[in-house]
Amino acid sequence: MSIENITGRIAKDLETLKQFTATPGDGCTRLPFTKEARDAVNYLAKIMAEAGLEVHEDAAGNVIGVLRGENQELPCIMMGSHFDSVVNGGDFDGIAGAVCAIEAARQLKDAGFVPKRNFVVVGFMDEEGLRFGTGYFGSGAMMGTRDVEYCKHYKDNSGVSIYDAMVSYGLDPEKIEEAKWEDGSIAKFLELHIEQGPVLDAENMEVGLVDCIVGIQRYMVTVNGRADHAGTTPMDMRYDAVDAATKVVSKIADWAREKADGTVATTGLIKTTPGGMNIVCEKCEFTVDIRSKNNDNINDIANRIRAALDKEVAAMGGSYEIDTKLVITPVFMDKEMLDIMEEDCKEKGYNYKILPSGAGHDALEIGQKIPVSMIFTPSKEGRSHCPVEFTKYSDFAKASVIMTGLAKKLLSE
Ligand SMILES: [Zn+2]
Repeated sequence: MSIENITGRIAKDLETLKQFTATPGDGCTRLPFTKEARDAVNYLAKIMAEAGLEVHEDAAGNVIGVLRGENQELPCIMMGSHFDSVVNGGDFDGIAGAVCAIEAARQLKDAGFVPKRNFVVVGFMDEEGLRFGTGYFGSGAMMGTRDVEYCKHYKDNSGVSIYDAMVSYGLDPEKIEEAKWEDGSIAKFLELHIEQGPVLDAENMEVGLVDCIVGIQRYMVTVNGRADHAGTTPMDMRYDAVDAATKVVSKIADWAREKADGTVATTGLIKTTPGGMNIVCEKCEFTVDIRSKNNDNINDIANRIRAALDKEVAAMGGSYEIDTKLVITPVFMDKEMLDIMEEDCKEKGYNYKILPSGAGHDALEIGQKIPVSMIFTPSKEGRSHCPVEFTKYSDFAKASVIMTGLAKKLLSE
């Protein structure tokens, strides 16, 4: 199969799938447990079956295709990504990884390849987590970290819980734990994803090989002071929450700049209450998002933030709270898979670069338990989560060839 033919097959799939959006003409909006999600799953199931896979949908709404190997006792090799999107997102985020995994199965079929162990291709439900304020639902369910209580707890803006959304989608949330894969049943997992950043495009690379998914810590900090008259309260007699909070916020980015290992720190939201031009701020809330390949860097910045809050808030005379939203340690990619793919890129003469992933993916959730690896394709100007998101179909084709080579190697053992 020539690279042109592979490019054509992938283009046809992605052109079809991009039509399953709730916002035609304004990017891809494919939220979990909606008609658009159902249409995408039906199409993925169809092309999985055409690729010779046994297809089923699991209790979490993941769509799964299996190429049976000679020995059912051996743990499988799994590849895939998510089929949901953000609101007004791009046509490639997630779905390209599901399509390229299916394309790898097609190339195995074209070659008449008989695997020793099962090759499993997955389209995951609700990685983005936008609708219910969560994330990694389908992959989490496969890892056994989602239960009925979880489904009942999280609700969308209209008050619909995951539980109710699953029922109207045609799933039984009471059976969610049936989506779990037994420990030891998956040997390795690979995810293709668009880079969603500018590095590969800027350096004219065709393929990215990920060595690490960065760790993330997220906090919501609330600094409490007292509301007073902005004109009549002298500077030494006020409890100004925004003054204390911003003294801390102003240092966070510089602390990240001092670190190596791709460390980044972001305050994306600052909210003042009551928020009047002539009122001393009573309450200042701000977010912190810290990411790095090196967990020590993350912990160190988080500790410095706490120490600075202790100092500045004490000086102000108020109090503060920190609500921890997320703590994920970095996940290092499986060296064997990385080496196999790097060799293959060299052999095929593809321009490749080894880089970390600054975004979380299904591989991050699965990587908590199982050896994982990721392959990136370039994102034009690094744009993603918006309608202009773009990757050349020929780049997906090249990546799918690398995925197929990896699958052949791992499925022969
Ligand atoms: Zn994604």
